[in-house]
Amino acid sequence: MKIAFLGLGHMGLPMAVNLVGAGHEVHGFDVVPAAIEAAAAQGIPVAGSGAEAAAGADVVLTMFPSGAHVIDAYRGGLLAAAAPGTLFIDSSTIAVDEARTAHELALAAGHRNVDAPVSGGVVGAENGTLAFMVGGSDADFAAALPLLEVMGKRIVHCGGPGLGQAAKICNNMILAVSQIVVGEAFVLGERLGLDHQVLFDVASGASGQCWALSTNCPVPGPVPTSPANRDYRPGFAGALMAKDLGLALQAIDGTGTDARMGRLAQQIYAAFAAGSGAGRDFSGIITDIRDAS
Ligand code: NAD
Repeated sequence: MKIAFLGLGHMGLPMAVNLVGAGHEVHGFDVVPAAIEAAAAQGIPVAGSGAEAAAGADVVLTMFPSGAHVIDAYRGGLLAAAAPGTLFIDSSTIAVDEARTAHELALAAGHRNVDAPVSGGVVGAENGTLAFMVGGSDADFAAALPLLEVMGKRIVHCGGPGLGQAAKICNNMILAVSQIVVGEAFVLGERLGLDHQVLFDVASGASGQCWALSTNCPVPGPVPTSPANRDYRPGFAGALMAKDLGLALQAIDGTGTDARMGRLAQQIYAAFAAGSGAGRDFSGIITDIRDAS
């Protein structure tokens, strides 16, 4: 397939590399010259603009920082440049409402569209093992699937437009709340004289078991691969968790959901990211909890 890949940053570049490796004809573009140079160095042909890449492509894939970037790019020439019926896949993490706006814009211009945000981070992008959460029609999901399977390992059709983004923010809200409370439990245990390994052994084999404990354990020792063993090098950076919780908060407010834990998690991670946590793994929240105790 002919693919326009726009947004060749931390995630987009390795994803584009995997598409090239699978034999697709990729034309990349980024607004930052350094990203264009990095892409060219990895063998990705680079177009002179997003619109130039989109013209003649079967699929236009975007991997941008925010929803405003997606909507601006769609309105600013991408939709107009693409041939009718082009499949637009947006893999950026953006608000549900923004994803639905992008979908309507694409359809009004005679195109097809799915939202397909990812989890799995840069390592997942490099290894082609991302998880994709997809929102869109059955037909558009089926059309996107072969490409998503090149870049990812777990691809879930979550429902209609915007529901890929909805699944992503709901999952990350669970994750944020559980990572905070696991940190609180370890600090409480410390203050009561409870050994880290003992608490881990009890909770990971009991009803406290969760990913934030069993995989992303916030204290060094019990899970040697967790970021706590490398001074909280990410992993999943606090800045990205704060961003996703901001999108969750928008959806909480927009739907009038009584999500007190999600709201509090958003405040806690916003403060973490504004302080020492932007570039640290989000499990490093335990150090804030310890410092404040
Ligand atoms: P990034 O900032 O490294 O890359 C985004 C790229 O998009 C930048 O290079 C930017 O110059 C480019 N861009 C912006 N507007 C553009 C335009 N109009 N045309 C062409 N290029 C444009 O960000 P990233 O870490 O690669 O993340 C991308 C998206 O994936 C974000 O929405 C993020 O929330 C999400 N995400 C990231 C991770 C991660 O671990 N980095 C994990 C899951 C999801």
